[in-house]
Amino acid sequence: NTEVDYELISKLEVLPTYIPREKFAHKGTYGHALIIGGSYGKIGAVQLASKSCLRAGSGLVTAYLPKCGYVPMQTAVPEIMVLTDEHEEFITKIKFEITPDVIGLGIGLGTANETQKALGNFLKKNKTPLVLDADAINILALNEAFLKNLPAQTVLTPHPKELERLLGKWKDDFDKLKKAKAFSKKYDCVLVIKGAHTITVYDNKGYINTTGNPGMATAGSGDVLTGIITGLIAQGYGALKAAIFGVYLHGTSGDIAVEKLGYQALTASALIDSLGNAYIDLF
Ligand code: AMP
Ligand code: MG
Repeated sequence: NTEVDYELISKLEVLPTYIPREKFAHKGTYGHALIIGGSYGKIGAVQLASKSCLRAGSGLVTAYLPKCGYVPMQTAVPEIMVLTDEHEEFITKIKFEITPDVIGLGIGLGTANETQKALGNFLKKNKTPLVLDADAINILALNEAFLKNLPAQTVLTPHPKELERLLGKWKDDFDKLKKAKAFSKKYDCVLVIKGAHTITVYDNKGYINTTGNPGMATAGSGDVLTGIITGLIAQGYGALKAAIFGVYLHGTSGDIAVEKLGYQALTASALIDSLGNAYIDLF
């Protein structure tokens, strides 16, 4: 197939993009990330994404949740600041006074009508770089008009079902990638097609990740990836580099975690715990 150029991504490809920590850095040097999501019964997703965002190296992380998420979030992740919507169980407005460098949006969000409207209104005004996952993608699929308001190089991280909602059904893998390429071009977005070999598509190119294992087919695994990519953008990685490097680090965390835990017992929290060693493994 000559229509899309492919590149395999291993350590050799990501190392040159790595941004070292500076001696005289302070937390402001590494950005402020905002994670927006959660609904009643799905606050854990935001905990996972916020923790992994922090572990990826973001200087500051704030989470924006429905009210019911306030106590569990502050208890589970003391490093993270919390803002709440006025609604108890889901998000009805996306409004805040802070000025984050990047926003990771959609995990555990739900697709209530009010939440859909809130996302539509937010996208009309927003200029901050975005990483959209899960129900944010589902809401885009339900409201195609929202897509034209995405900022340049928005990162979308769909799993296969979310991708199908976004692109429609495909015939085979080549057709899928063709559709993905066209979508990425039309909306100028970085499309991270998650799977056993996650492929990041942008500007006619596909970047095929080589790390990761089936132990990562577990609840919350994708939420951790969203947090990592958001955390990388906060630190100054461009959207495409953050997506490629984030997917690589996420897979490496999985490969490190599986050594200790085996495939079955690997959890999303274990991915977060291994993220530090995934960075160390680069050198
Ligand atoms: P989600 O379905 O949103 O939780 O995302 C699942 C995450 O786990 C994605 O980053 C996938 O790439 C990863 N994943 C799922 N299954 C596998 C697999 N068999 N091998 C490697 N990675 C996987
Ligand atoms: Mg997911």
